Amino acid sequence: MSCIFCKIVNGEIPSKFIYEGERVIAFEDLNPQAPTHILLVPKAHHENAAELSEGDPVALVEIFKAAKQIANERALEGYRTLFNTGAAAGQSVFHAHLHLLGGRAFGWPPG
Ligand code: 5GP
Ligand code: ZN
Repeated sequence: MSCIFCKIVNGEIPSKFIYEGERVIAFEDLNPQAPTHILLVPKAHHENAAELSEGDPVALVEIFKAAKQIANERALEGYRTLFNTGAAAGQSVFHAHLHLLGGRAFGWPPG
């Protein structure tokens, strides 16, 4: 399996986990777009959020609970969570992941 996030999950690529639960891990994004930019990743491989919602909905709930926990730990005033689905929407890693962004102001629409 050549999936980079599977390699992070299974320790093939050593990474510092900010959170580890039963079904989900979280780690810092390599190329942060905000002072806080964390990726929340299911341990099992699912291509995107829609696939995850069908294959492991419990992990999807854990992802959002973990995002709240991390935001609280960092005392973020507000935060943005997003899934990119498909290359046209900006997805570049095809193992589902929630972006958790915080620590700066965000515009709307997101662009
Ligand atoms: P996407 O574009 O698929 O929504 O998000 C993929 C994210 O993964 C990007 O923000 C990118 O910076 C991050 N990323 C890609 N490869 C690695 C890696 O090896 N380690 C970490 N920590 N982040 C990565
Ligand atoms: Zn994977």
